[in-house]
Amino acid sequence: MRQVLLANPRGFCAGVDRAIDIVEQALKKHGAPIYIRHEVVHNRYVVEDLKSKGAIFVERLREVPEGSIVIFSAHGVAKTVWKKADDLNLTVYDATCPLVTKVHKEVIRKQNQNTQVVLIGHTGHPEVEGTLGQSIDGKEVLLVEDEKDIAKIDLKDGQKISYTTQTTLSVDDTQQIVTELKKHFPDIDSPKKDDICYATQNRQDAVKQIINQAEVLIVLGSKNSSNSNRLKEIAEKNHVDAYLIDHYSELKDEWLENKETIGVTAGASAPEILVQEVIEYLKSLGISKVTEVTGAKEDVYFPPPKELRN
Ligand code: SF4
Repeated sequence: MRQVLLANPRGFCAGVDRAIDIVEQALKKHGAPIYIRHEVVHNRYVVEDLKSKGAIFVERLREVPEGSIVIFSAHGVAKTVWKKADDLNLTVYDATCPLVTKVHKEVIRKQNQNTQVVLIGHTGHPEVEGTLGQSIDGKEVLLVEDEKDIAKIDLKDGQKISYTTQTTLSVDDTQQIVTELKKHFPDIDSPKKDDICYATQNRQDAVKQIINQAEVLIVLGSKNSSNSNRLKEIAEKNHVDAYLIDHYSELKDEWLENKETIGVTAGASAPEILVQEVIEYLKSLGISKVTEVTGAKEDVYFPPPKELRN
C-alpha cells in the first residue's frame, strides 16, 4: 500500500515563531505600516501573509521613512545597520534569533582576545553578512565556504584562531570543513557548543530517519531558505529524489509516479498548514496511510522583547 512518512520535527523553530510574533505584536501595538528589513524569515507564505497585515519589506534602511518602526529579520544584521537605524531615528524591534545573537557575541568575545575568527558559512546569506558585520576595531572575520578557502588563510606568527558557523548549515558538510580546519590549525579553538542550531540539527536527523524508506522526499520551504535546501541535499546525497516546494500546487505527478513511500518534511520557516495541504493532496490521490515518525522532542521557546509582550 502506498504511504506517506512525515518527518518529525519539521517546520517552525523557536526563532521563526518569535520573529513572526514580533511582527504581529508590533503591528498590534503601532498599527500599519511596519517596515521589515529583509524577509523576516525566508518563506514566501509567511511574507505574503505579513504583507497583507500591513508589513512592508525592504532590503535597505534608506527605503524606510525617518522616524518609522522597523524590524530586523531573524537572520541578524551588521553593526552598521544599527548605526544607520539610529541616524534615521527609527524605532527598532530586533527579531534576530537568539541563537544567531549568541554567534555574534562569540565573534566579539574572540576578537577582543585578539583571535582570528573564521566563519564557516555561505557567501551572501544575510545571516553571514550580519555575522561578518560584527567585527570590531577594523578586524576581519574570515569566511570559509569550502576547503579551498582554508588554504588561503594566512595567520600571523603566534596568532590564535577560532571558528564559528552559520546556524543553518549541513551538519555533515560542516564536520568535514572543521576536520580540514583542524588539520591546518591543530590549536584552533572550537565553539563551546555547536553553532548549528538545534532546529537545523533535528530536522536533518528526522530526514535521515525517513529516507531509509522513502523513495522521494518533498520539502516544504522557499528556495532562499538555507535550512530547507540542506534537507533536500541530504536526500539527494543518499540517492533519493527530493523537491523543494512552496506550495502543494507545485507537485508534479511524475515525481510521485511508481513511488510507494513518499517522505514529507518542512524547513524551519515553513508553516504547518503547507504540510497539511500536501498531505490532503496526497490523500486525494488515494494515498491514505500517513505515518508520523517519532523524532527529537522540541520545547524551546524564545520570548519576544519586553516592550512587545502581552
Ligand atoms: S533555524 Fe535555528 S538559528 Fe534559524 S531562526 Fe530557527 S532556531 Fe534560530
